[in-house]
Amino acid sequence: MARKRIVAGNWKMNMTPSEAIKLVEELKPLVQSDSVEVVYCVPAIDIVPVVEAVKGTNVVVGAENMYFEDKGAFTGEISAPMLVDAGVKYVILGHSERRQYFGEDNALLNKKVKKAFEAGLTPILCCGETLEQREMGVTIDFISTQIKEGLYEVSAENVAKMVIAYEPIWAIGTGKTATSDQAEEVCKAIRDVIRVMYNDATAESVRIQYGGSVKGENAAEIFGKPDIDGGLVGGAALKADFGKIVNC
Ligand code: PEP
Repeated sequence: MARKRIVAGNWKMNMTPSEAIKLVEELKPLVQSDSVEVVYCVPAIDIVPVVEAVKGTNVVVGAENMYFEDKGAFTGEISAPMLVDAGVKYVILGHSERRQYFGEDNALLNKKVKKAFEAGLTPILCCGETLEQREMGVTIDFISTQIKEGLYEVSAENVAKMVIAYEPIWAIGTGKTATSDQAEEVCKAIRDVIRVMYNDATAESVRIQYGGSVKGENAAEIFGKPDIDGGLVGGAALKADFGKIVNC
């Protein structure tokens, strides 16, 4: 079965609730598509108003992070059941900014991935190498470890439903995009890791996105590659350009 393309915007720490509603309204006519799943991954405080604002459209809402416990004394955290109750469908886990600034490692992310599935959320698990790792020639090894440890003891059935985002750190927010061949090489390698860990059916079902300075002008070439099923978009998700990316 063909994989449905998925384009997700990662709003990061941008947009107050009132700005968020304005942006949703501006993007509404631009992101309509039957063939692409469109997700807005928004700051926690924007979730409730954005879920309301996208009602009746093809857009669904994602979170940018969550904690792995259901509830309790974890000041400042948000749980998977809270997200589900608010109408969230997806959750970004392991974005390189969370790994870099908040010390999130593969073992922690594995707990979050399992909790997301348990609660009924679809994780978008991010992976990606630094420029130094690319230059040292260890990109595929490094990313394989991120995938194997992040998905430790996660069932094939769940992996088949999830999304993996390949985001080379050197391309995030820098204006430097991986070439479509570089992106395809790694996305194919990720699919092959899933094939070895699980089976062909799971590898052919999991959706793999590319992220890193995706724009209206480069999206079609990148998304045209056989192992790339869409994109995770940062900066361009906050502008009308996002509509071009969805419809490229
Ligand atoms: C991101 O942060 O997930 C991202 C891909 O950012 P940008 O598109 O701005 O490079």
